[in-house]
Amino acid sequence: EKQYLMLPGPTPVPPRVLRALAKPMINHRGPEFKTLLSEITAGLKEVFRTENDIIIYPSAGTGGMEAAVANFISPGEKVLVVSIGNFGDRFAEIARRFGARVEKMDFAWGTAADPAALEERLKEDKDKEIKAVFVTHNETSTGVTNDLKALRKAAGEHPALFIVDSVSGLGAMELETDGWNLDVVVAGSQKSFMIPPGLSFIAVSRRAWEAAEKCTNARYYWDIREARKYAEKGQTPYTPALPQLTALAESLRMIKEEGLPRIIARHRRLRDMVRAGVRALGLELLVKDEIASNAVTAVCAPAGIEADAIRRLLRERYGVIVAGGQNKLKNKIFRIGHLGYVCETDILATLAALEMALIGCGFKANLGQGVRAAQEVALAAT
Ligand code: PMP
Repeated sequence: EKQYLMLPGPTPVPPRVLRALAKPMINHRGPEFKTLLSEITAGLKEVFRTENDIIIYPSAGTGGMEAAVANFISPGEKVLVVSIGNFGDRFAEIARRFGARVEKMDFAWGTAADPAALEERLKEDKDKEIKAVFVTHNETSTGVTNDLKALRKAAGEHPALFIVDSVSGLGAMELETDGWNLDVVVAGSQKSFMIPPGLSFIAVSRRAWEAAEKCTNARYYWDIREARKYAEKGQTPYTPALPQLTALAESLRMIKEEGLPRIIARHRRLRDMVRAGVRALGLELLVKDEIASNAVTAVCAPAGIEADAIRRLLRERYGVIVAGGQNKLKNKIFRIGHLGYVCETDILATLAALEMALIGCGFKANLGQGVRAAQEVALAAT
């Protein structure tokens, strides 16, 4: 049955990319692979806006996060983890398990990190004990985008590495790896890159490479130095996820055709459509406009109605798949993804189904009101 996959990952895979997934295997130690890897690396560098090395792992995004800890932080070192939700908490937990001394800087779920607080904390660190600052770019659990540029600026001249999880941000919102001086940036395949889950990407600055050399963690599969050594000869240390890479080459061509500025503008427009539509139906949004994500929108369930009941009806009756709330937000919100291969019509269909599902759950929605508000946003933008 037809489904509308309105998730913040995995996101819909375009037909062109699906066809690329079905190509025959090639020798990963041969010349064709070298050509493929070099095309992909060039395309990724454009999306990351960097001249730094980019390493590709066959892994979930979390694998990329683990690589970003295991390679740059030694046991006993102090790190500062800025968390505004589930994925910030995950970075802290990974660092803790790798033996780092973790200091968490928590902000309430649904809010963004305050650059002034980061600046103040790092200024207090006179002995430069903090070796790395971890930041989530786009917090998928709440639909909040941190002001990454301002946070990086707040870290100023402090020598800590600046390590970013942009798994759900990169490619849908602005991020300048070089322009903003980001040392490590982690992204994943199943979000704005429009390919299936299973690849993570990690951009590594010169300073971060130096830290990787000094790092005392045991590493084998995740040893990023090994990956760089092989990348120099157009290979990966271990057998790569070939279908994923062929698909990525195709999706990077699509990204180039549409152009990053237009892609970001489209995501912003889809976000504004969703927010206008949801508001017009009389529902509340979890987060304020100024920090609202281009990739995912968290909607509060109306009083007395479970978010998961709305989701169930959306799925069973209308084939629209939206995400639930995580941890403390479980059953209180649902999250509409508008990330990757998604267009205005998908948003209108989703809102139309949402109106009907709300009525099905006993909420007095006015049919057409959400759709209309979203249409107005779309028309105003063209
Ligand atoms: N960080 C963020 C911000 C994410 O949105 C996700 C995936 N939802 C991850 C990390 C983890 O990615 P994965 O589920 O592929 O491990």
